Amino acid sequence: MIPRTLLKEFQRILGRENVFHEKTDLLTYSYDAAVLEPVLPGLVLRPTTCEALSSAIRLCNENNLSMTVRGAGTNLSGGTVPAEDGVVLLTNALNRIIEINEEDMYGVVEPGVVTARFAGAVEAKGLFYPPDPGSQAVSTLGGNVAENAGGLRGLKYGVTLDYVMGLQFFDVNGELVKTGSRTVKCATGYNLTGLMVGSEGTLGVIGEIILKLIPLPQHRRSMMAIFDEVSRASEAVSGIIAQRIIPATLEFMDNFTIRTVEDYSHVGLPIDAAALLLIEMDGYPAQVEEDAEKVESLCQQMGATDIRVAKDAKERDNIWEARRMALSALAKLKPTVVLEDATVPRSKIPEMVQALQKISREFDLTIGTFGHAGDGNLHPTILTDRRNREEWKRVEAAIKAIFDKALALGGTLSGEHGIGLAKSRFLEKETGRNTVLYSRRIKKALDPKNILNPGKVIGG
Ligand SMILES: Cc1cc2nc3c(=O)[nH]c(=O)nc-3n(C[C@H](O)[C@H](O)[C@H](O)COP(=O)(O)OP(=O)(O)OC[C@H]3O[C@@H](n4cnc5c(N)ncnc54)[C@H](O)[C@@H]3O)c2cc1C
Repeated sequence: MIPRTLLKEFQRILGRENVFHEKTDLLTYSYDAAVLEPVLPGLVLRPTTCEALSSAIRLCNENNLSMTVRGAGTNLSGGTVPAEDGVVLLTNALNRIIEINEEDMYGVVEPGVVTARFAGAVEAKGLFYPPDPGSQAVSTLGGNVAENAGGLRGLKYGVTLDYVMGLQFFDVNGELVKTGSRTVKCATGYNLTGLMVGSEGTLGVIGEIILKLIPLPQHRRSMMAIFDEVSRASEAVSGIIAQRIIPATLEFMDNFTIRTVEDYSHVGLPIDAAALLLIEMDGYPAQVEEDAEKVESLCQQMGATDIRVAKDAKERDNIWEARRMALSALAKLKPTVVLEDATVPRSKIPEMVQALQKISREFDLTIGTFGHAGDGNLHPTILTDRRNREEWKRVEAAIKAIFDKALALGGTLSGEHGIGLAKSRFLEKETGRNTVLYSRRIKKALDPKNILNPGKVIGG
């Protein structure tokens, strides 16, 4: 319970309209897109300027209130489930695109800017911001940076980290810290940008982001390769990469996901296919066409039964719209949807796909698999009902089996969704004890009272 005098102080700093403490408000911010029990915060604050954000952080710290920053709350690892009676700091009013610099090719934004809005504004100037999480229509750039989000174009263009040139963030005392710069190169001081990207709100609160932009590709070619055996599709993924061709996007969908998406969106997906690869090449027209031909013939050699090349922008958009709908379509089928993002070296994709099929049979669970196969990042999605305790036990066992397999193949627990609360107990399995202890020492030094998004990533 927040004392009345403190509530008034927050209202004075932020304006009454930006301080929420009614039960319905608290409920709204008690959960996110991960499958975890909701936790009621004590207060929700919506700073409208970075100065107000800094003052709010300072006041929280002085009063030992834990703080959970929230962008759009779309993370899938429990990163925005608040601490009980803690404070939720909303960034949705910090949504200004401060600058798009065409000459030096960078953008400067506040953390609450929605990813797709920024990408659209940049594209209108003939520039390109590639990271495109499936949630880009609602996710925020602050959330993307704090999760080191990936997306469909990760294979060729990398993830959010590859585009963060600099940050301004607030430490736990509300003091401004600057890292990086507007220059292409910057070797000044510790690489605090690297520390902050993917820190999930546990080390500081991001207030301003400088993002690298690149020239917009001149040409694109999208295609759908259809397979009647899952193993052939997954082998084609490794086959394409082995030929040293790097498509912008190389996505996989299994039959269950294809049927579910088609049922939901009616875009004309081949519902009898065992699996699909959705592939896009971009760049200079001649190179794109040459690579597209090579990929097409490779897929044929690998046993594709049909290849549909998008004839125009509408057909291309249909393909990608269908892919972006995968999670929403699957989520309609059952009350609980657990989406994992264990990632393996891409040559191991065929083995991982096989293992997922085995896990689905072994634990008698419905698992739809889709995802960024080209960068080894599949999203096995378990459809279940958490209220069914017996089934839920099997779900937990299956999740553990997925992680064990990914690690055994030299992979990682999370390609892009972060660790949050949901996976912190598995962290040591991948990194070893010393890494967890080292990370905890960093956390303790920067946040001695453990009030910045406590419990996330490193547990405790
Ligand atoms: C349908 C769907 C599709 C998705 N597809 C993808 C995908 O393709 N790739 C991918 O990587 N992810 C994907 N995600 C997951 C999610 O969208 C990403 O993790 C995204 O980066 C979260 O952004 P957000 O604004 O919702 O952040 P939130 O969920 O609000 O926050 C995420 C984390 O960042 C912290 N945070 C937020 N803002 C700040 C800040 N200003 N300072 C410090 N910490 C902050 C929060 O405390 C939290 O720990 C998907 C999710 C859904 C629901």
